Amino acid sequence: MAKPILLSVDDDSDVLRAIERDLRSQYGAEYRVIGSDSPEGALELLKQLKVRNDSVALLLADQRMPRMDGVEFLQQAMGIFPSAKRALLTAYADTNAAISAINQASINYFFLKPWDPPAEHLYPQLDDMLDDWQASYRPTFQGIRVLGTRWSPRSYELRDFLARNRVPYQWTDVELSANDPETKQLLEALGPEAANLPVVLFPDGTKLLEGVPADVAQKVGLRTRAQTDFYDLAIVGGGPAGLAAAVYGASEGLHTVMVEREAPGGQAGMSSRIENYLGFPTGLSGADLARRAVVQAQRFGVEILAQEVVGARTEGPYRIIKLADGNEISCHALMIATGVQWKRLEAPGVARLQGAGIYYGGGATEALSCKGENVYVVGGANSAGQAAMNFAKYAERVVILVRGESLSITMSQYLIDQIKETPNIQLWTHAGLAEAHGETHLEEISVLCSDTGKVERVPASAMFIFIGALPRTDWLAGLLERDERGFLLTGPDLMRGGERPKGWTPDRDPFLLETNVPGIFAVGDVRHGSIKRVASGVGEGSVAVQFIHQYLSKV
Ligand SMILES: Cc1cc2nc3c(=O)[nH]c(=O)nc-3n(C[C@H](O)[C@H](O)[C@H](O)COP(=O)(O)OP(=O)(O)OC[C@H]3O[C@@H](n4cnc5c(N)ncnc54)[C@H](O)[C@@H]3O)c2cc1C
Repeated sequence: MAKPILLSVDDDSDVLRAIERDLRSQYGAEYRVIGSDSPEGALELLKQLKVRNDSVALLLADQRMPRMDGVEFLQQAMGIFPSAKRALLTAYADTNAAISAINQASINYFFLKPWDPPAEHLYPQLDDMLDDWQASYRPTFQGIRVLGTRWSPRSYELRDFLARNRVPYQWTDVELSANDPETKQLLEALGPEAANLPVVLFPDGTKLLEGVPADVAQKVGLRTRAQTDFYDLAIVGGGPAGLAAAVYGASEGLHTVMVEREAPGGQAGMSSRIENYLGFPTGLSGADLARRAVVQAQRFGVEILAQEVVGARTEGPYRIIKLADGNEISCHALMIATGVQWKRLEAPGVARLQGAGIYYGGGATEALSCKGENVYVVGGANSAGQAAMNFAKYAERVVILVRGESLSITMSQYLIDQIKETPNIQLWTHAGLAEAHGETHLEEISVLCSDTGKVERVPASAMFIFIGALPRTDWLAGLLERDERGFLLTGPDLMRGGERPKGWTPDRDPFLLETNVPGIFAVGDVRHGSIKRVASGVGEGSVAVQFIHQYLSKV
């Protein structure tokens, strides 16, 4: 943990050196001693320390300095670090000025120069002041801090990215905390830069203005560049299917890279409680499952890159993927495990307010922000049910909007039972979203009731949409065969009338999870006909590795 700071300011370099030496010899073990030879420079430094979230215990300034005297410096410094103890260094002739400064400018003490011996004229008084300071000192947060506003889509995207990648951070909503003195001081220290939200402050003192996930990923050490440009196995997508393939592939000796554009865990990472995964009788959260899988994959030497894959092609026996930053990775075998993404809800106002009260899926980040509010969940499948159960822990009331007359066809019975037993969850059947209203963030929604034909307008603080999902495989069009909705065809689905797919050269049929391009496999939700469960994704990812071994034995 960073030591609190003792800052001394004196334009006379001999005096400055002497005071720094005496402070360091007595307090160096517990405090960091810093000196500055100008009050203006010291004020700039204090602003930087504020932005870094350092603590300042003592400000010690010479009274007689050109341009700005010690009292004025201490008064200005007090605006940045109000709880730091303040002391003046004065000559005998300035004693009266110092006494009136103590009275008028809340200065704690004044020392006469010279202060020899310090054991008599300096340390006892400083000990007293520092003891007093320590009594109310609370160590500051030393990790990443994010400043933004709750209704800003960019702030939401960034917080969601950090949470899903399990990067600890401290969040400050600058609007909600506008009257908090600590936030005010920090914003003042940042100056005009504070307008570029979200601002990300790192413990090393650096900052990102208008921070975006890709820049933060690099800064926090999430790897974005591959160590080499060739692998036995490259996996696109780090959901359950991709992670399973990575663990099995690497544990069986394949040099493996896994590329994930958001956060390992995929859709499962959004699940607040997976209750049907074998071996976890009381369920486990998707975030926990993802964390464990990532540790396991890394133990076997899997390289995990935080990047988006934007293209794929073949060159003879090589499979090549193109990353969003323009780099390419070649491999012998390629696995597509890109899952599915939420379908967009087409209604006026939804696109405009996305990230500002309207969200697809529902991250843990948002659940906490819904404390005491009215929350709407759109959709009737298990994902919507799990989300409703999770939000009900924080929100005043959760309303599930479904078009049908009940949940029984679309949701598992165990969830229907849990929802029935949760008093603050309400089911609104025959209900479809007609419009979302709000200037800067969601305030109300209009719901079309199909049984009465009426439109009801109700207040809503947040709305989470879970209306099914589709694969995003456009970047594979022209290379891989897809069904009419974009899911990838594999194995027997590629055989038409007993014929192998067009352009197929090997003297065998495509393996079970192999696409129409030999050596490119598809697993999990992105695959046509897949079961859309965590366990089935994990199963496919693991099984595919066996086919990869067979493929590699003939390459
Ligand atoms: C809220 C919720 C709750 C659920 N609850 C359960 C449950 O209780 N039990 C259960 O069995 N199933 C549950 N499911 C379903 C389950 O999570 C999915 O079936 C499973 O996650 C599919 O795994 P996957 O690896 O195929 O794909 P995904 O989990 O969708 O992962 C795909 C990954 O690929 C990444 N990706 C996509 N395109 C690219 C690209 N171009 N470049 C790089 N990366 C890319 C994505 O960011 C994503 O991380 C739930 C789903 C949701 C959304």
